[in-house]
Amino acid sequence: MRLYNTLTRELEEVRPVAEGHVTMYTCGPTVYRYAHLGNLRTFMLGDLIRRGLEFEGYRVTQIMNITDVGHMTDEASPGALDKMQLAVEDEGLSPLEIAEKYARAVFDDAEAVGIRPADRYPKATEHVPEMIELTQTLINRGHAYVVDSGSVYFDVASFDGYGSLSGNTLDNLREGHRDLEADPAKRSSADFALWKSAGPGRLMKWDSPWGVGFPGWHVECSAMSMKYLGDRFDIHTGGSDLRFPHHEDEIAQSEGAVGHQVVSIWVHGGHLRQSGQKISKSTGNTIRVPELIDHGVDPLAFRWLTFQTRYRSEMDFTWDAMDAADAKVKQLRRRMNEWAPRADQIGEPAKDYDARFREAVAADLDMPAAVVVVNEVVGTGELSEGEKYSLLASWDAVLGLDLEREATRAWAPSDEMTAKIAQRDAARSAKDYAESDRLRDELASMGVEVMDTPEGTKVRPRD
Ligand SMILES: [Zn+2]
Repeated sequence: MRLYNTLTRELEEVRPVAEGHVTMYTCGPTVYRYAHLGNLRTFMLGDLIRRGLEFEGYRVTQIMNITDVGHMTDEASPGALDKMQLAVEDEGLSPLEIAEKYARAVFDDAEAVGIRPADRYPKATEHVPEMIELTQTLINRGHAYVVDSGSVYFDVASFDGYGSLSGNTLDNLREGHRDLEADPAKRSSADFALWKSAGPGRLMKWDSPWGVGFPGWHVECSAMSMKYLGDRFDIHTGGSDLRFPHHEDEIAQSEGAVGHQVVSIWVHGGHLRQSGQKISKSTGNTIRVPELIDHGVDPLAFRWLTFQTRYRSEMDFTWDAMDAADAKVKQLRRRMNEWAPRADQIGEPAKDYDARFREAVAADLDMPAAVVVVNEVVGTGELSEGEKYSLLASWDAVLGLDLEREATRAWAPSDEMTAKIAQRDAARSAKDYAESDRLRDELASMGVEVMDTPEGTKVRPRD
């Protein structure tokens, strides 16, 4: 598989550090609010990379963090509040209860759109000692400094590669990036917090060598990725909005602490828009999985919708396109039911389609091209029905559309149907075709397709 590496701005072959085993870290949800479809599209990217690599035969270990502390409302203001703390005040629940409530909701939503669970979900609040240790290492190595208030800042001028991921030069940053923290004690306005001293009234705070405080947001991903995947791992994913400052700062922290490259390939997903507007909490146009269900669409159809656009591009969500994707997925499942069972062997033309599908997935997840191959297979007269079934069933490991749902669902005729089937077979043996036709119509009116087979009358559900 080749992936577009944001760091080198080139397509690169995935070559895992450990033979046959890919390690991947995915920036996960903040759990003080619900995840919307834009968040889910981003999480789907990590899952799709994993599905594609497993399809190629790799073993994949995926870690996704849970951010339950450290997101500030406004980094620039001295009275900045942690968003988790705001949720606590709004909802009257403890931080732990808020985190549990929203983590459960995001896991449910992710499952509904076919995102398979990561191997581990480390929580920021459970890794504060690791973050303190990393911060101490950065101080010892001359990459960070403590100010009088007890906050610790990363000294960006001390790290040569700062800005290489996002393309932001230090000069640009000094021009006044709005979300840079304004603390007059900082050596440079571009320096960012590894540890912040806790003001009065702060709920979530911990002891540290520099006094009572809490970790900066970025340090959790450096500490947890290296704890679980080691200081050389293969892929790091996240939304394009995380390139700067989050991932730029993560590179500075991780590489500053260990003195060498940590992540091989950085992959970033494009935003989801609705009617041209970015979907976000602040624009008030967030759509969630329960709304898809209320609308009558299968949440898995959201996958098909996202496959129409390359993952790095912005994608526009419309309900018309969502409805069309839903109809398409349901149609594919019906066709699979018609085509079942799968062929024991597939011929050369089917192998060619398979190669084209695999190549599309391997080419930086070119899902629009994969969709074209799926549609060609559905429409072609070149393949047997059993071959079509075989191909789509195997590709569903990547597509994740539950395409065999109808074909494999347990179904048996009712007692009433069984009685009519027996009567019809008796009528046919007696060559009473008028009676046989009458019973066929009665069975058909019960919602089944009636088939004449050498073994007699057979029925199967009709949609
Ligand atoms: Zn992160």
